[in-house]
Amino acid sequence: MILTRLRCARALQLTLAVIKPDAVAHPLILEALHQKILENNFIIVRKKDLIWRRSDSERFYAEHKERFFYQRLVEFMSSGPMRAYILAREDAISYWRELMGPTKVYRARYTSPRTMRALYGLTDTRNTTHGSDSSESAEREIAFFFPEFSAQYWLET
Ligand code: ADP
Repeated sequence: MILTRLRCARALQLTLAVIKPDAVAHPLILEALHQKILENNFIIVRKKDLIWRRSDSERFYAEHKERFFYQRLVEFMSSGPMRAYILAREDAISYWRELMGPTKVYRARYTSPRTMRALYGLTDTRNTTHGSDSSESAEREIAFFFPEFSAQYWLET
């Protein structure tokens, strides 16, 4: 698989993680989420602060076009700065998603109160973080945020 490599006998997997505008707007929350990455032994492969145009937001979330929250989501994701990371570690995709917690903040608070969404999420839309949900989406989303990044090159060197 293109997004894994053996290094020191560990299979590293890449994922795309995003700290959304609601969390970036609060420096202490941003710092707490960044610390989570470090505490959980992710390698920060790339990091980028950016602001989306509305059209970026629409393209990224096109799969949700028919959902009732689409307009709200698109507006929110282009409302201010966010931070994107390419992260690497064993099982990076599922590990990051576990740290995030469930999509819906009330559910996160109820079922997994130590997760990032439970601790810092504001609403089901303003829920602090994004993480790829499969190796296919990681590949697509890394290319979306970091078009200059070559996973192949990184994995082989
Ligand atoms: P996840 O981000 O957990 O992978 P989805 O891919 O289903 O979840 O949804 C993408 C984003 O759309 C969510 O992170 C959240 O910001 C927003 N969203 C999803 N479901 C809802 C909902 N029921 N109400 C409001 N916003 C939602």
